[in-house]
Amino acid sequence: MPLLPRRFERLKAVLNRRMADLTVLLEQVDKPHNLSAILRSCDAVGVLEAHVVSLKGRQATFNKTAQGSQKWVPLRAHGDSAAVIGQLKDRGFRLYGTHLSAQAVDYRSCDFTGPTAFVLGAEKWGLSPQTTALVDQAIVIPMQGMVQSLNVSVATATLLFEALRQRQAAGLVPSDGEGVPAERYDDILFEWAYPQVAAWCRSQGRPYPDLNDEGAISEDLPRSLRLRC
Ligand code: SAM
Repeated sequence: MPLLPRRFERLKAVLNRRMADLTVLLEQVDKPHNLSAILRSCDAVGVLEAHVVSLKGRQATFNKTAQGSQKWVPLRAHGDSAAVIGQLKDRGFRLYGTHLSAQAVDYRSCDFTGPTAFVLGAEKWGLSPQTTALVDQAIVIPMQGMVQSLNVSVATATLLFEALRQRQAAGLVPSDGEGVPAERYDDILFEWAYPQVAAWCRSQGRPYPDLNDEGAISEDLPRSLRLRC
């Protein structure tokens, strides 16, 4: 089935609003319904990609709560919190660690318009002490009730939508692809439009073909592959 031009326009419109400078780092969050709900919120807000440090040997899995959002927001897996925190800092991110302590500041008093990574902790234990020591700022969503904490996916959504609100108010939400690194834009669009062809190209070690203005592949592909487009 050829990609319909309308579908291609929609993919482009969504990618044009993605923000590479807003992300989440999940430390040992591994319940499929939480990971799924978090990626769904990332997609809704316009996060380009998310990160997870899982328990050894655990692979992130999703359920129908995700509504397919794992296709649109890759969850990058890392073996070690300190390493990914270092990488994000090198890329200019300010890391906000969620922490239910008196030292944490109310998230609404922070400025999330710059490169921002929210660091969320495990369902049971919260953030590890090592990670808490490495983040730039501890933040909390103030609670009014009897229960001490929110579900981690709810906390993530609350923070992401506050970041989006601040960026909208400051006129900083991308609309024309400027939030995606220019050198990655075409590849991401191709992967969204033709995931199977993209996987085949990667397996062959060859670059993705160009797309024309209507999103059609402007190159001859093996017949078996064309049938799957
Ligand atoms: N007993 C854990 C603790 O003391 O951190 C509770 C973990 S909570 C269920 C799971 C994660 O959700 C937390 O690590 C944090 O990332 C996020 N979270 C939950 N409630 C929050 C709140 N009020 N403010 C900020 N983050 C919160």
